[in-house]
Amino acid sequence: MVGRHPRAELAPRDIVVKEMIRVMDKCGSNHVYLDATHIPESHLKIRFPNIISKLRENGLNLKKDLIKVSPAEHYLNGGIKTDYKGKTNIEGLYCCGEAAATGAHGANRLASNSLMEGLVYGWKIYKDIEKKLKQKNTGYENKTIEGINKLLDEAKIKKRKASKFDDKKPDIKTLTSDLKNIMTRKVGILRDAQSLKEAGEFVDFHINSGYLYNKKDKNILEFVNMLTVARLIIKAASLREESRGTHQRNDFPKKDDKNWKKHIILKQNKVYFKDV
Ligand SMILES: Cc1cc2nc3c(=O)[nH]c(=O)nc-3n(C[C@H](O)[C@H](O)[C@H](O)COP(=O)(O)OP(=O)(O)OC[C@H]3O[C@@H](n4cnc5c(N)ncnc54)[C@H](O)[C@@H]3O)c2cc1C
Repeated sequence: MVGRHPRAELAPRDIVVKEMIRVMDKCGSNHVYLDATHIPESHLKIRFPNIISKLRENGLNLKKDLIKVSPAEHYLNGGIKTDYKGKTNIEGLYCCGEAAATGAHGANRLASNSLMEGLVYGWKIYKDIEKKLKQKNTGYENKTIEGINKLLDEAKIKKRKASKFDDKKPDIKTLTSDLKNIMTRKVGILRDAQSLKEAGEFVDFHINSGYLYNKKDKNILEFVNMLTVARLIIKAASLREESRGTHQRNDFPKKDDKNWKKHIILKQNKVYFKDV
């Protein structure tokens, strides 16, 4: 990163990662090297004791060796929409942690705030449930069951349509790995209309293929869930024709407050927007 940014490796994460991808693509490699050999050993020992010990377990020395590194996803902005108490739009169904979009973060996430968010919203949910359980005759349980049954009924329609594919056995391990690779390379750090379209084609093909439904295999069910989440991410990323926070479009590199200072909410096949 020296010569690429005044702060070299300490440049903002999106800048470092973009440069890593550029070099990896240029070299046809799946990693770049981290060189910490110029940093005094005493300093490394104080700042990175865990990394040093993990590397040692693998026969590497941070002071002497070049370390292979590659970018990795470590947070998902967005998720199931909740209010400030962790409530979803289904009565009695709550969500918190990385699966939730509580509104605590913006287009980016402040470092080290996701674990705190999980704790805070977990506590809020606990308090809300405790309060509800103390109230009597609210019809609360029935409303929750009604909401969940509605979702299950919709899933059953899909299942019936798919039943003629019951005897097909997909290679889920390979498909899951393909999906992960596609999401990383085409929807990950850098995206554009073409890469999003290609990823969308893969997801749509499999999500519309009946062979995935009506199976009791846990790995297949998880793959369907992954496809569902992938489809939502691709749709939102395709709609948002600007770059903001962790969402970086090669074809729309600038932030566009005039048109896009708003949240995208996807509900079934409908799209809603909410101003920030
Ligand atoms: C490399 C990396 C570094 C990070 N660094 C930081 C940091 O410094 N500070 C910070 O605040 N955050 C950091 N994060 C983000 C933070 O770790 C996550 O946002 C947080 O752990 C999310 O918590 P969670 O409980 O919502 O989800 P998770 O921690 O993902 O927990 C979900 C759990 O559900 C289990 N599960 C999944 N499917 C099923 C199933 N079908 N049935 C039963 N169980 C299931 C999983 O095994 C897992 O245990 C980092 C993340 C990564 C990947």
